[in-house]
Amino acid sequence: MKKRVLILGSTGSIGTSALIVARQIPDRMEIVGLAAGCRVEELEKQACEFNVTHLHLADESRCSELKKPERTIHSGAEGLVEIVEATNPDLVLVAIVGVEGLRPTLKAIELGCDIAVASKEILVMAGEVVMNAARAKGVNILPVDSEHNAIFQCLEGHSGRSSEEVRRLIVTASGGPFRTWPAEKLSHVTLKDALKHPTWSMGQKITIDSATLFNKGLEMIEARWLFDIPMSKVEVVVHPQSIVHSMVEFIDGSVLAQLSTTDMCFPIQYAVVWPERLQNNLKPLDFPTLAKLEFEAPREADFPALTLAREAGETGGTLPAVLNAANEVANAAFQNRAISFPDIWKIVDQTMRQVPHLDSQELDVVVNADQEARAIAQEHVTKLS
Ligand code: NAD
Ligand code: MG
Repeated sequence: MKKRVLILGSTGSIGTSALIVARQIPDRMEIVGLAAGCRVEELEKQACEFNVTHLHLADESRCSELKKPERTIHSGAEGLVEIVEATNPDLVLVAIVGVEGLRPTLKAIELGCDIAVASKEILVMAGEVVMNAARAKGVNILPVDSEHNAIFQCLEGHSGRSSEEVRRLIVTASGGPFRTWPAEKLSHVTLKDALKHPTWSMGQKITIDSATLFNKGLEMIEARWLFDIPMSKVEVVVHPQSIVHSMVEFIDGSVLAQLSTTDMCFPIQYAVVWPERLQNNLKPLDFPTLAKLEFEAPREADFPALTLAREAGETGGTLPAVLNAANEVANAAFQNRAISFPDIWKIVDQTMRQVPHLDSQELDVVVNADQEARAIAQEHVTKLS
């Protein structure tokens, strides 16, 4: 079956990988809409190549550059919801950084479209809302994040029973560029150091998150919601080679793992053709060349992101939204060279103590908490810079 796919975030790292997949499997994937932030030239090229008539550009001031009689151009936050309605696709790939993808995702679920989710932030902020809405509509949420895609594959055949049959979800982490750095050197980390990811090439925000380990923290909470599993059953192990993408330990002691070359095209293709599998040109693993796969415990005391994320995930309510929002603000401030690397952890920790906690994941409640957390985190940035 050919799927009609809408890509939110088409000019980014995940978006461009999705278009590589679309070139490889034209019989299975038709692009019906593309949404991007501000890179208008790139969006124009994509629209021409894939013959797409529904386009979205967040930057309203440049929309006129895309105008053609056969096209509908959407813009702004509302435009993301409109392009979902206008294209009514089979599958929406949500690959926007941060929480902007939340409203279009909820709209897509309401319309009965399946969701391939890369934007972990929306599941951290409002995982309960998204998953409940999807269950109510019978919509499939297909994880594109490599770890969750791996767990999804390991759980095939166990869905619905995972909470009784699973002992642990073991999320692997590369450890980031500072895995072996002494703790005292972390306050001297530069932006350039933090952008050198050892195994993956990704957008800037997630690359910084990988260096602080907030990416892994967000992924723990993402796993909690995607697989409806208590936070206490989600663990992290560092695996520097990034070949084992994650594992599931069942109650009978058996552990299933998913292994493959590091290439985001694979989880994207998997989500598009699921529940089938399709041949591709993913480089096969050569085990004698790999020689060894290593595992070690994360350095939680030196990289407190995991401890903070576990606390947020266990507490639930608005705390994950607060953690996520504070991290977005602090991450951006570090990218603007306004704060130091360890300040990111400090700002998230302090913001988590300051925003009044509510034990609810109602949409309005988490959206408010997100806004409050952004304002408080921004005050910390201003004080520190
Ligand atoms: P990126 O910065 O490379 O790309 C983001 C895309 O979103 C760009 O196309 C940008 O133009 C677009 N965008 C931003 N704001 C927008 C808006 N308001 N409206 C429409 N489009 C907008 O980021 P990325 O690395 O591709 O990551 C995207 C998401 O996927 C993140 O949530 C990230 O955590 C997740 N993810 C990425 C990877 C990876 O390998 N890059 C792996 C796993 C998960
Ligand atoms: Mg990941």
